[in-house]
Amino acid sequence: KAKKQLGQNYQYYQEDMEEQMAERLALLRMLRQDFAHDRLQLWYQPQVSLNTERVVGMEALLRWPQTNGQFVSPAVFIPLAEYSGLIVDIGSWVLEQACLQIKQLQKQGFAQLRIAVNVSMPQFRNHGFVQSVIECVQRHQIDPQLLELEITESVVMDEPKIVIEALQKLKNFGIKVAIDDFGIGFSSLSYLQQLPLDRIKVDRAFIRDLDKVEGEVIAETIISLGKRLNLSTIAEGVETAAQEQAVKAMGCDEVQGFMYAKPMPAAELLLFLQQQK
Ligand code: C2E
Ligand code: MG
Ligand code: MG
Ligand code: MG
Repeated sequence: KAKKQLGQNYQYYQEDMEEQMAERLALLRMLRQDFAHDRLQLWYQPQVSLNTERVVGMEALLRWPQTNGQFVSPAVFIPLAEYSGLIVDIGSWVLEQACLQIKQLQKQGFAQLRIAVNVSMPQFRNHGFVQSVIECVQRHQIDPQLLELEITESVVMDEPKIVIEALQKLKNFGIKVAIDDFGIGFSSLSYLQQLPLDRIKVDRAFIRDLDKVEGEVIAETIISLGKRLNLSTIAEGVETAAQEQAVKAMGCDEVQGFMYAKPMPAAELLLFLQQQK
């Protein structure tokens, strides 16, 4: 009887997995379709200097709207896009949009604002990646320093050689590099030395836990590490004045979070920036 029950559980388990896989495949099919029909959007979240209290740039974040007005979370569709390789084409589109946006902002009188774009591992594995980024910047005639690439620790650890080499070339061309979600991955500190970095992004988890000893100690350690390595630091996910004060006291350079602004569409961003002026 025990054996029979085990067999039944296994069967349910398998049906569960098959159902999940079918759901994901259906979602991926929809993503492909919506991307092909130009239905993905790129939103922007401002990044603020703690020194001047001014917007110095923004992070570009993908949004996938549904017909019901809701959005599919990037935490759901980005992994699917990565797994399927679709992120390579989506990523090129994101870069194109970001460069267009930098140009657009220049025309509106915001000549010094940088845009940070998230980059996934499959993009680095694609041989034409470095050249396509450089070509995009050149075609739009923008200052390469205004474009920043965000990579996570897991991307670095996955294929350090490929990633370091690619970033080195992009860095030589003038493009900026930030390490994203820093502190939650398992990157060896020795890679920090080899990476041509400009900025460290302190992960949101530590900012959320700033009122606890662990969060405070880790955030402080990351920020002083950045200082010692001569890198700029930015705190992600700042939601309260207390969090802002805490990271400012630690010597953090910039902040990004709901306290200043949530990610917004390009048209709204322009209004937001004009109001700040
Ligand atoms: P990320 O790069 O770490 O982006 C920051 C995430 O934190 C964003 O989530 C943003 O909306 C959220 N956030 C910002 N400030 C706050 C805050 O004060 N409180 C809280 N609770 N959340 C805040 P989002 O937009 O859902 O994106 C999730 C992740 O999806 C990103 O994490 C990034 O890893 C990935 N992603 C988004 N767009 C792209 C893209 O174009 N390409 C790639 N490869 N990945 C992307
Ligand atoms: Mg990011
Ligand atoms: Mg992040
Ligand atoms: Mg993240």
